[in-house]
Amino acid sequence: MTDCLFCRMVAGEIPADVVHETDRVLAFRDINPQAPTHVLVIPKQHHPTVGALALADPSLLGEVVVGAQTVAEQEGLVDDGGAEPGFRIVTNTGRQAGQTVHHVHLHVLGGRGLTWPPG
Ligand code: AMP
Ligand code: ZN
Repeated sequence: MTDCLFCRMVAGEIPADVVHETDRVLAFRDINPQAPTHVLVIPKQHHPTVGALALADPSLLGEVVVGAQTVAEQEGLVDDGGAEPGFRIVTNTGRQAGQTVHHVHLHVLGGRGLTWPPG
């Protein structure tokens, strides 16, 4: 989709600060970070929401989640043998939930205490 920001990033038309990549998944730093680690993990193929992706290609959704876990490990957010830092995976669906880019993305957030419930 030529009018999709994240498809254009996959195509290399818009720069991305890539931290992890496979043949089907891309992970890059959010341009407006909300935590010390704030990475977006996307399928390279366009799907609008996590639910749509799950219906269309559940194995690709699994690869995106593995990508999020890989990023969390790279960023030191997974159990380091003592303290367990932790991280949060968020995916907004629809405008009222705050989805502004309609290409499914997992936010991987960590590096600070995260409050619950979210706003
Ligand atoms: P959401 O609001 O859940 O759809 O998330 C979209 C995210 O994309 C926001 O956190 C934005 O800061 C982020 N974003 C928008 N443009 C870019 C960009 N060019 N590079 C990296 N992240 C971006
Ligand atoms: Zn797209």
